[in-house]
Amino acid sequence: MKVRVRYAPSPTGYQHIGGLRTALFNYLYAKASGGDFILRIEDTDRSRYFDGALQDIFDTFNWLGIDYDEGPNKPGANEPYFQSERLELYNKYAHELVDKGWAYKCYCDSERLAKLKEEQEKNKQSFGYDRHCRDLSAEEIAKLDAAGTKYVIRFKAPLEGKTSFDDKILGHIEVENNTLQDFILLKSDGFPTYHLANIVDDHLMGITHVLRAQEWIPSTPNHILLYKAFGWEHPEFCHLPMVMGQDGQKLSKRHGATQVMEFRKNGYLPEAIINFIALLGWSLDDSTEMFSLAELSKVFDIARINKSPAVFNYDKLKWFNGVYIRQKSDEELLDLVLPYFVQRGLVGENVSADERAYLLRLIPLLKERIELLSDAPDIVEWAFGELPPYKAWEAIYPKKVEPAAVVRILNDEYDILSNLDKESDEDLQHKIYELAAKYEVKAGAVFMPLRIALTGTNKSPELFPVMHVLGLDKVLARIKAAIAKIESEQS
Ligand code: GLU
Ligand code: ZN
Repeated sequence: MKVRVRYAPSPTGYQHIGGLRTALFNYLYAKASGGDFILRIEDTDRSRYFDGALQDIFDTFNWLGIDYDEGPNKPGANEPYFQSERLELYNKYAHELVDKGWAYKCYCDSERLAKLKEEQEKNKQSFGYDRHCRDLSAEEIAKLDAAGTKYVIRFKAPLEGKTSFDDKILGHIEVENNTLQDFILLKSDGFPTYHLANIVDDHLMGITHVLRAQEWIPSTPNHILLYKAFGWEHPEFCHLPMVMGQDGQKLSKRHGATQVMEFRKNGYLPEAIINFIALLGWSLDDSTEMFSLAELSKVFDIARINKSPAVFNYDKLKWFNGVYIRQKSDEELLDLVLPYFVQRGLVGENVSADERAYLLRLIPLLKERIELLSDAPDIVEWAFGELPPYKAWEAIYPKKVEPAAVVRILNDEYDILSNLDKESDEDLQHKIYELAAKYEVKAGAVFMPLRIALTGTNKSPELFPVMHVLGLDKVLARIKAAIAKIESEQS
């Protein structure tokens, strides 16, 4: 039997980490088992729908390289893939259940339901429809229909017994039927509820496995009952572990970014996101950490999905990002960080060939030092135009070194650099190093002030690559400027 799985988002908000994890696990399971991955848009809740949410689904998939075999804009045997375009089907199936006695029309108006709720509240009863219309006589129904009374279609939940299923991940789950509601299948406006549309489509689209978040477990008994009522076999259910913040609470905005596109904006690479998300509740073994999407597409297996909650560790994600950044070629990385340079105003939108060549020289200087693409401008800001305001002025005075001594050191360095005669970097380094002995200070006290003088920050790349990028004239001018700044502060 060919595996067929689906991701069935409701376009009511932007894609977040939890949804992406569901999408990815479905995608990977399909790929690894030679099956099909279907994207189905569950857009029947029109009050919560918005266009941006739909576009965000496509953007997320495009960015991460997740492709579907069937879905919007992809002709397939099960079109259309928007539930809002399948309303007739749901109507037909809802009425079929009424005809078979598995469902009934409920004519209760909102006024009656509100009153009911009020009463239940007063009596401290749990909320629920009181099954008022479950046993209306044929005459009563005919009368109400003749009068054109609006109705919803409700499922006739069994009043006794148990409903159970064997979750592929969590094992046997069962509920007492007397805890279930006569839940709505079709609303009075002809739109289906999630329950009806979801199982009609899963059936018609030949879905074999439902991988979705654990928060859907309470809905599953309803779905099992619906499958039974229709006489259909139900797919396997695999409820995925919760995603928690490091404090053990459900992941939310409080913990940091949760929307997929926020991560993109903040400078994460798709490779890092994929790798990290794949490990939210799944592992290959106890040690392998690095996976590309292609590798995951071969080795992913639902047997290795955890029961227990997954923890979203932002530091770990950053670490992954750094690793993937360092795997990029300089050219690739330049293209990736360029938008952040533009955003910072370091370069314009249109980069000339000369500018690009210059930018390319900066990439090796920042590659080892950034974890996010968005960190890049900070590391090399000194390489553009005038030196930006010092970010680490105090650090120019190393521990226990007087400002006057720093001035002397910088002056000596100025002299060394202005009298260069084809020395190698090593020779030069040695000459500067000798100043430490001359002034009886640590090596850091001769190198760090120079680095800050040239870049305005102590977080800059190594000294020599910086000097090569700046060129001697700028180097000398910046040393002079630093000396002047120290002196003006002291006077
Ligand atoms: N439309 C539901 C959602 O937004 C689908 C849940 C399911 O996979 O059954 O998550
Ligand atoms: Zn009713």
